[in-house]
Amino acid sequence: MTANPFRLLPPVNEVLRVPRIATLVEEQPRELITEAIREELNLVRQKLRNGWTESDLPDAETLAERVIARFEKAYQPNFRTVINATGIILHTNLGRAPMAEEAASAAYHASRAYLNLELDLESGKRSSRQLAVRNWLCKLTGAEAATAVNNNAAATVIALRAICQGKEVILSRGQLVEIGGSFRIPEIMAVSGAILHEVGTTNITRIGDYAKAINENTGALLRVHTSNYRIRGHTKAASLEELIALGNEHNVPVIDDAGSGAMVNLLPFGFSDEPRIQDSVQAGADLVLFSGDKLLGGPQAGILVGRAKWISMIEKDPLMRAFRLDKMTLAALEATLRIYLDERRIFEDIPYLRMVSTPVETLQERAQRLLPVLTKLPGVQSATIGEGVSFVGGGSLPDESLPSIVISITPSNISVGDFAYALRMGTPAVVARVRDGQLLIDLRTVFPDQDKDLTKALSEALTKCAGAEGKNDSNASHAVEDKPSPEDN
Ligand SMILES: *Cc1c(COP(=O)(O)O)cnc(C)c1O
Repeated sequence: MTANPFRLLPPVNEVLRVPRIATLVEEQPRELITEAIREELNLVRQKLRNGWTESDLPDAETLAERVIARFEKAYQPNFRTVINATGIILHTNLGRAPMAEEAASAAYHASRAYLNLELDLESGKRSSRQLAVRNWLCKLTGAEAATAVNNNAAATVIALRAICQGKEVILSRGQLVEIGGSFRIPEIMAVSGAILHEVGTTNITRIGDYAKAINENTGALLRVHTSNYRIRGHTKAASLEELIALGNEHNVPVIDDAGSGAMVNLLPFGFSDEPRIQDSVQAGADLVLFSGDKLLGGPQAGILVGRAKWISMIEKDPLMRAFRLDKMTLAALEATLRIYLDERRIFEDIPYLRMVSTPVETLQERAQRLLPVLTKLPGVQSATIGEGVSFVGGGSLPDESLPSIVISITPSNISVGDFAYALRMGTPAVVARVRDGQLLIDLRTVFPDQDKDLTKALSEALTKCAGAEGKNDSNASHAVEDKPSPEDN
């Protein structure tokens, strides 16, 4: 008669001796492999309890294969390269701005050897890490002084704290923004110790509203760029120039939270006028704050430029230590800023600006080259080229789009949700949009040198889906959203 099938299961040690596993153990962490074996054996035991019989038991080879697959899944790094086919250029969930080669290389070199992070090589004395970016920022923006912290949220907190703690900060009700997650101006104000003094209404705030609110305890006039939303229709906001004139009259500093941090004019690409950092500085703002990884196209950072007096107060704030940038980010930021010194290089070397400035015709040509290959992939019912729209994203230029070219793929036999899931789980992962049963590939955000990898990933995902089909895979729902969530900033 049949033996107790539980007894037929090999012990962990025996599985470790299966040649394929033994080879793996020589090169990979033994603990994790053992864990994978235990988990796989537990799974088999559970199946036995649920009705499996001896004949269902996997042989040693099959078991080894499953253990290896389990181990590989458990041991793979969490971060993987993603091909961004969403058309959202500064996709916050995908790391916002991809950095320029030079910036990436600067971060790499800064990380793997010693460098003069806080040492003046000339004198041999201690110096400031901010020197890596200070002079470039001053040159580019015309500001007297500059400093950089971890991100623009930190820049806002530290600026308000260093300059306005215990004092009132006057802000229009039309600019009480939430950037995403828990970054909301009233909360940030509270954390910094400044007192929010709201003026005006959601749609209309005049300079007179600010003037009336100024008192002996006013610490600053704050303007927050409504980078991730727009108020339209019957609206009025005081201009930066008006705020600066008022501030000067009362000897109150003006802080401009520019947010997105545009350094170049994006008008030629059909975008409306995004305020440029150097314009705010030239207009006379005391402090201008912006992100490093939005429209600057660099690493995550919060940059503060403006009058030396305020920057020096900020650099003396105890939070500076908590918010300071590490050497890799500073190196990457410096390299990014240096690119801006040469106008000819900006649109070539800053990847997001290269994407923004790629003509539709170029995308069309790439699509034409890809289409015949994609159409022939097994599992593709149809693939077509059409017009689409890309977005800057990252909480910048919220409702403005760029014309783009989209390849729409309809898979045969499998659901588009399963297809999109398999793509996300592939190597490299591909993130695309789904609409009306089709997978949409926006070529604007796919680097041209990724076209081959993209084709390969699509092919592999289709093969994988075809293999899983009919197996009644337990991967619950693979529904994907067509649009980025509002939290994407
Ligand atoms: C994006 C943004 C922030 C937050 O910047 P992070 O660098 O993401 O911290 C703050 N203020 C404005 C106006 C922004 O657009």
